[in-house]
Amino acid sequence: MPEPVVPIPLHALTLEDLEESLTALEQPAYRAKQIMEWAYEREKRVESWEAMKNLPAVLRSALAEKHPIRIPGVVTVSGSEDTTRKFLLRLHDGELIETVLIPASPALYGEESDRRTLCVSSQVGCAYGCKFCASGLDGWKRHLSTDEIVAQVLLAEKISGERINNLVFMGMGEPMANYKNWLKAVSILNAPWGVGLGARKMTVSTSGLVPQIRELADQSLQIRLAISLHGASDSVRSEIMPVNQKYPVAELMEACAYYSERKKQMITFEYILIEGVNDAPTEAKLLAERARGLRAKINLIPYNTVEGLPWKRPSEPVQEEFLSILRNRGIAATIRREKGHDIDAACGQLRRRIATSLKED
Ligand code: SAH
Ligand code: SF4
Repeated sequence: MPEPVVPIPLHALTLEDLEESLTALEQPAYRAKQIMEWAYEREKRVESWEAMKNLPAVLRSALAEKHPIRIPGVVTVSGSEDTTRKFLLRLHDGELIETVLIPASPALYGEESDRRTLCVSSQVGCAYGCKFCASGLDGWKRHLSTDEIVAQVLLAEKISGERINNLVFMGMGEPMANYKNWLKAVSILNAPWGVGLGARKMTVSTSGLVPQIRELADQSLQIRLAISLHGASDSVRSEIMPVNQKYPVAELMEACAYYSERKKQMITFEYILIEGVNDAPTEAKLLAERARGLRAKINLIPYNTVEGLPWKRPSEPVQEEFLSILRNRGIAATIRREKGHDIDAACGQLRRRIATSLKED
């Protein structure tokens, strides 16, 4: 008996995968290009095999079985005053994820900027349990598949009618813990036959998974790296990020140095400012030292309150003082005045609220 063939969704395939699949069906490989055009060319982007009109009907039905097209459903689209839009998506098994479209901020990038950033999720929930984060509160459900990561970009472009030219993997989940699916999605998003987005326009954020940071460093893709640092000393970081017990700061800094050396890139440290937890001047001084060694940039993010969690952001003078300690030491640092505060734009928050209210219904 032949092994049953496990279907692989179309949007999880590379061009080479599809060529192989067509060859197995005794079909010419050039069909793969045609199919990718139907899937990814902006004026096409069809969502069914039937819509691929230049394919023979028999082939369409064979491929529909082998490579189903699974586009998530859109549950809600919420927009804030500054037009940050948040999409709540329902996956084929009913799980919910979030994707956030953030338009250019003239204040940050100038009036002429046409930067449109999409914040993409990589998992349902998160296993890392950082104490301040809504994504980790309900634990980890599952990895997103490659096509579920790719589809977030397709859907956001479809709903908004806008072209996304910047991607940040800063939504729900830890992308580096879903390394294989995530990296494949990145290659599809980057490919000229795929979405065609430059790797330099993509940033992956990680809570500090050292082996994967090193593995990515050895990849040729020039993707940018952001580290959710949130503490410069082991004592502060371990208190809020359990992952620090496995990969302490010194080990993480070595992996970061390896990454920036291999890629010839500046990395970014993200640092949420949480009152009374990590906002002391001593921590700022140590952070400056860590950043100087790596020539890293620092993004300070005033904490967004999460319902059910006790943390809050420090006052503006404390934020400014922290910033000036970094700048006085010659470090490139900014405070990110968060957009979309009013639509629960901090990762995991919208899903959590909707999931809670669905449970209550
Ligand atoms: N798991 C990865 C990717 C998620 S990125 C990571 O942790 O890097 C999401 C970013 O938002 C992380 O830097 C995270 O620390 C930050 N974040 C989480 N909760 C937040 C909150 N309530 N306010 C502000 N930033 C928050
Ligand atoms: Fe997971 Fe990142 Fe949230 Fe930590 S900050 S719980 S790693 S999503």
